[in-house]
Amino acid sequence: MVRPGKAWRKATMSSNSDTGSGGRGLRSDRLSVLARGLLGHCPQCGQGRLLRRYLKVNPNCSHCGEGFAHLNADDMPPWLTILIVGHLLAPEVWYVQRNFDLPVWVEQVLWVSLALILTLTLLPRSKGFVLALLWVLQRDAKEKAVLAGQPPVVPSPDESILDQVSDARVEKPSAP
Ligand SMILES: [Zn+2]
Repeated sequence: MVRPGKAWRKATMSSNSDTGSGGRGLRSDRLSVLARGLLGHCPQCGQGRLLRRYLKVNPNCSHCGEGFAHLNADDMPPWLTILIVGHLLAPEVWYVQRNFDLPVWVEQVLWVSLALILTLTLLPRSKGFVLALLWVLQRDAKEKAVLAGQPPVVPSPDESILDQVSDARVEKPSAP
């Protein structure tokens, strides 16, 4: 019988430590960051506000000073909100249509009101969640770069969009 060598044991131990208590701790840390974003709190400290005036992103956390200006959620929060509201309302609409004979105007008022209330309630939460997701992804990318001995270069969404715009301007053919 061939016994595993030192290198194999070392690799197994390191992979166990990745998925062990350290991995669980990292996963729960990411989940708590996402929960903070969902509640509209700073992903770093959980104390300051991520958003102000409904959907406007605060440039910095009022508690720990963490910057949020580089986080660009773009269209993801409305997409996420539409997805959730659609999945929440569709079963109710189907159930009411099959089991009740409501007048059309009652259904219109009911579904439009419910859709509006759900959308306006979920939109800031979706935005907070997406911003926290971007924040934790960028933080992890920076940590990986530092561990690999590379400079932590993480392009912000604003930079990449600006780069695309400037590239498009350069490549645009001139009119004859
Ligand atoms: Zn903070």
